[in-house]
Amino acid sequence: PFVIVEPCIDEKAADCVDVCPVDCIAEGPDQYFIDVDTCIDCGACEAACPVEAVKWDTELTEEEQIFVEKAAQFYSSR
Ligand code: SF4
Repeated sequence: PFVIVEPCIDEKAADCVDVCPVDCIAEGPDQYFIDVDTCIDCGACEAACPVEAVKWDTELTEEEQIFVEKAAQFYSSR
C-alpha cells in the first residue's frame, strides 16, 4: 500500500485528496493520511503529489517506517 511521509507535513497540498478515486485520503492534524483498508493501490495520489510525499511501503526508509504506524493510529482513532 501507499504511505504519505514527511514532505506532507506542513505542505498539505491536498492534490491527492482530489484525485483519489475511492476517497480514502483524510486530513490529519499535521499531514494527510491514506486509509490502507480502502486504498486500491492505483497510484493516482503518488503522481499528483507536488512534493513526492507519497511512497510505496516497500520503498520507505528506516526513518519513514513510522508513517505506516502513524496512519494506522489516525484511522483507528476516528
Ligand atoms: Fe487513493 Fe489510489 Fe492513492 Fe490509494 S493509491 S490513496 S486509491 S489515489
